[in-house]
Amino acid sequence: DAKSDGIGKLRFYHPSLKDTMQERIAFESALKEALANREFFLCYQPQVSATSGNTVCLEALIRWQHPLYGLVMPDKFIQLAETMGIIASIGAWVIDASCEQLSNWRAMGFTDVRVAINLSAQQLLVSDLEETVTSALQRHRLCGGDIELEITESVLMRDPERAIERLGALQKLGIRLSIDDFGTGYSSLGYLRILPVNAFKLDRSFVWDMDTGGKGLEICATAIGLAKKLGLEIVAEGVETKEQLTQLRHLGCDLLQGYLFAKPLSVEATSLFLTSSHRPWQSAIHADAGFD
Ligand code: C2E
Ligand code: MG
Ligand code: MG
Ligand code: MG
Repeated sequence: DAKSDGIGKLRFYHPSLKDTMQERIAFESALKEALANREFFLCYQPQVSATSGNTVCLEALIRWQHPLYGLVMPDKFIQLAETMGIIASIGAWVIDASCEQLSNWRAMGFTDVRVAINLSAQQLLVSDLEETVTSALQRHRLCGGDIELEITESVLMRDPERAIERLGALQKLGIRLSIDDFGTGYSSLGYLRILPVNAFKLDRSFVWDMDTGGKGLEICATAIGLAKKLGLEIVAEGVETKEQLTQLRHLGCDLLQGYLFAKPLSVEATSLFLTSSHRPWQSAIHADAGFD
């Protein structure tokens, strides 16, 4: 259909260069309009405590709903927005919208949960991020500790000196910082030691390798051990099975995120998740509670 064609041709080889160019231009101009047309929305994916099973954090994940292209996932447009130079304004919207939503959840009585926001390179290195974050926090009556910013290793390694300086300023505001997709970005151990961050998010590829034989389990154990030795929290992403949950718990992982608990949810579904006592994974958390 027209929707998937429009997106598909962007990503894959297409014989007609002219068509591809035209479609690319159309897609880019649609992306340029998306903010003004209010076509972006956020889903939220819970991060649960590996010891209590309680939801500690909600990661905001952007979606683009376009009349022609349909639902467009971030992997299809974030990179493009970055090269088009419009990521900072999209990112500022994400910061404001997720703070507004958190303040709504706080008003509903969910006082113990924070939100995590993904940052792109330009947001950290180029834009006036502190100003954007500070004004969003003020506008929605939140404090720095209510939010967490996720930055990938590759972004940090692009300009480590500047990243360290920017992260330090954000941390002074009380904001929690985490390294996303940890283990995939070739950070040097020297930088990991001095980066002002609070947590590592173990990339899901390692989590998925844990029970396939091989060295996946050892890699997870080593990454978790490194985080602990550095005094950092560690979050596992992409947890899909109870076996992974049990292993990660025994390795001392602090927080868990993945389809086992919930997929990225709409605002309404997130509110339901926060109130629901239906937690099929809870038995796996309590089954071996005696080992703690
Ligand atoms: P990420 O920050 O590493 O987010 C985790 C991605 O893994 C999400 O994909 C999530 O839906 C997916 N995921 C989580 N648990 C599981 C699981 O158990 N199994 C599987 N198969 N997948 C899982 P999503 O929402 O498509 O986002 C992709 C990436 O786009 C994110 O990766 C993040 O880097 C980027 N992104 C999303 N929202 C934003 C945003 O607001 N700003 C920026 N700059 N980047 C964003
Ligand atoms: Mg993330
Ligand atoms: Mg990640
Ligand atoms: Mg990822």
